[in-house]
Amino acid sequence: MTATIDHSSGLSGRMTGDVVLPGDADYDDARRRWNGTVDRRPAVIARCRDAADVAAAITYARSEGLEIAVRGGGHSIPGHSVVDDGLVVDLSAMNSVQVDPATRRARVGGGALLSEMDAATQEYGLAVPCGQIGHTGVGGLTLGGGFGWLTRMAGLSVDAMRGAEVVLADGRTVHASADENPDLFWALRGGGGNFGVVTEFEFECYPVGPMVSIGMLFYGLDDAAAVLRLARETVPTLPPSVTFQVIAMNAPPEPFVPEAVRFRPGYALVVIGMGDPGGADTDADAVCESLRAGGPPPLFDFRSPMPYVALQQMIDEPNAWGVHCYDKSCFLTELSDPIIEVVTEHVARKQSPLSVVNVLTADGAYCDADGDATSFGGERTPRLLVFIIGLTLPDGVGFEAERDWVRAFHTALMPLAITDAIYVNAMGSGDGHGVSALYGRKYERLARIKAEVDPENVFHRNANILPAP
Ligand SMILES: Cc1cc2nc3c(=O)[nH]c(=O)nc-3n(C[C@H](O)[C@H](O)[C@H](O)COP(=O)(O)OP(=O)(O)OC[C@H]3O[C@@H](n4cnc5c(N)ncnc54)[C@H](O)[C@@H]3O)c2cc1C
Repeated sequence: MTATIDHSSGLSGRMTGDVVLPGDADYDDARRRWNGTVDRRPAVIARCRDAADVAAAITYARSEGLEIAVRGGGHSIPGHSVVDDGLVVDLSAMNSVQVDPATRRARVGGGALLSEMDAATQEYGLAVPCGQIGHTGVGGLTLGGGFGWLTRMAGLSVDAMRGAEVVLADGRTVHASADENPDLFWALRGGGGNFGVVTEFEFECYPVGPMVSIGMLFYGLDDAAAVLRLARETVPTLPPSVTFQVIAMNAPPEPFVPEAVRFRPGYALVVIGMGDPGGADTDADAVCESLRAGGPPPLFDFRSPMPYVALQQMIDEPNAWGVHCYDKSCFLTELSDPIIEVVTEHVARKQSPLSVVNVLTADGAYCDADGDATSFGGERTPRLLVFIIGLTLPDGVGFEAERDWVRAFHTALMPLAITDAIYVNAMGSGDGHGVSALYGRKYERLARIKAEVDPENVFHRNANILPAP
């Protein structure tokens, strides 16, 4: 019975950060996660300040037989980063970001948020390729891959990773890079939180912004098939500085959206131009023009320069903490006619205005990266990453219907998907896919490395790679 053990006196003296226990004023806040459906009650939350704290927390948990969860940004949709009756290694205070503009390298704390990393790197007109919502954690996102607006230009977050400080299951702190512990370094770049707690990442940064250009053309559901065909024709023609997404969503209540269109479900074609620091990317303008000329008339059409940091937080609000979420994903080669049929049919059935389908373009730098240099599961062939995201307000009204919608949509899409891998960071709980399917041909090597660094599978609250026998 964990409740009767005094974890405070057991752990507090061994670490500099706070220890939060049931009954403490900030306990409920500390156990909360982004996904409002996750409601777990850990026995102890160790708010670590440095690698020594992380080591102390792991050693303590193991000596007390407590299951361990590791919290970066708290965005894990199945809630891997919090555990009933166990110990949470909470990295949220380890959020420092130091940028060296001369070497274009950034050292980023294991608990930093994307918004914190973006703000620090943009001081120097630099960016690390990462995800699209500012309050996501660098930790979980990077260790699983890391897709976002920069994927075409700079690849995945794992491609930009150059080193990591890691606390292993036995409490040792090691450094991993191409030269030091190279197997561990390989495994960290895609293998999720299976191999240890990363207390600091080192990334290569790329020149981006400070301004980018955004173009959005929005169409009603009636034009779905024509718009998706237009998107299919556009993807192979994209210039290198331009990235492109299809988003099935409800029109936002923004000033640039005509009142009659606000909240209407439809499809947005989003064009981001990164080629001009002032946000006047003429290649992006040309893509917008060609979309306008090549398809049905959009319900609205918006174009503007925008700070890169604002782009990175543009959809933070509709994805605020506490929403109820269920998601699934898959990779596609292109929006073929049978896929368009599935998408148009299922998008029309979504009920919650918050639910979205994102289709990200992964080619360019994603394909140029050496696929064998990282453990990321998908092959480096041009592809689309589809996220089907069921979202409702924090009151959870209508959540079951959205979850069923996601499941039915995904089931219909999977026979048409690329089968080499599934994106680990978008694997819903109870997905029914074995973890080996996430990593394809790389799973065996991952399992061997897991056996070396975590033979007792201490870090298992993740898409769990079992130690090889
Ligand atoms: C709103 C939202 C937007 C998203 N957008 C994107 C996107 O644009 N692109 C994309 O690729 N993915 C995206 N994702 C998926 C996201 O990458 C995963 O949910 C990821 O796990 C979140 O990481 P976190 O640190 O915030 O989560 P947490 O819940 O804190 O952790 C998730 C997992 O990572 C492990 N972990 C976290 N930090 C560390 C660390 N420092 N060391 C070791 N293990 C660690 C945890 O143990 C846990 O297993 C999004 C998710 C959400 C909810």
